[in-house]
Amino acid sequence: MAAPLDPGLYIVATPIGNLGDLSPRAAAILTAVDLIAVEDSRVTAKLLQHIGIKRPMLPYHDHNADKVRPGLIARMANEAIALVSDAGTPLISDPGYKLVRDARAAGHKIVTIPGPSAVIAALTLSGLPTDRFLFAGFLPPKAKARADMLAEFKTLRATLVFYETGPRLSAMLADVAEVLGNRDAAVAREITKTFEECVTGSLEDLSARYKDTPPKGEIVVIVGPAGEAAAASADDIEDALKEAMKTASPAQAAGAVARALGADRKALYARALELQGK
Ligand code: SAM
Repeated sequence: MAAPLDPGLYIVATPIGNLGDLSPRAAAILTAVDLIAVEDSRVTAKLLQHIGIKRPMLPYHDHNADKVRPGLIARMANEAIALVSDAGTPLISDPGYKLVRDARAAGHKIVTIPGPSAVIAALTLSGLPTDRFLFAGFLPPKAKARADMLAEFKTLRATLVFYETGPRLSAMLADVAEVLGNRDAAVAREITKTFEECVTGSLEDLSARYKDTPPKGEIVVIVGPAGEAAAASADDIEDALKEAMKTASPAQAAGAVARALGADRKALYARALELQGK
């Protein structure tokens, strides 16, 4: 029999594939709570079966959260309630922050039991800088909203992390290259599962690789920060373009400078044509 827990909210991270990644503390908390708020009770039932326990579950997901939340908050006064998502860390591209917000407002005890998250696992595999990163979740599916969001990241000196699906991967990588330049990137797939892989390359190369063969499974895309030269001044960029045009066509020169300095290829091409006409 597990020791009783203080009433409150217990945020429990669960595996992103390999059930062996459930921490002993996470298992102990799930065993001891009065209720588990779950995204999908079928998914969590498998996890509970893996550790040989049965606990009461209550669905808490995007479609019922507003309705269910007040009842959960009320119960936390006397009961220990765990929050889990289908995989990984709750609240990370998953429901939960409003539950934490309201539990805090109600003065309940809030405890986190950290563990796997695809964002962090993918970063560790990518070989891209990890000192500063921005997690952007799933990009908007519509072209305009997607381009607008990517434009916001353009001058950010940080590695970017996105979640994506296989069928949309190639187009997504091409869109990112279009707005941010052809940066170094990594596609981490099926992390901690049998077919785990991490493929690295430029955004354009990766987009081409997956164009006709969309990968299966779960995917994280990691995009390196703009190159050192992104900090290059407008004068530096102009000089580099003029230099490149001594030996290359306007299109080639614009492409090369855009890649090297993380600058906008279309703008460079327009400028190259101007320079050529002078
Ligand atoms: N809360 C989760 C976490 O902490 O990672 C993320 C939930 S989000 C709804 C699900 C997305 O995470 C998937 O579509 C995929 O992009 C990514 N993901 C989850 N598990 C993964 C895995 N094993 N390998 C690669 N990506 C994964």
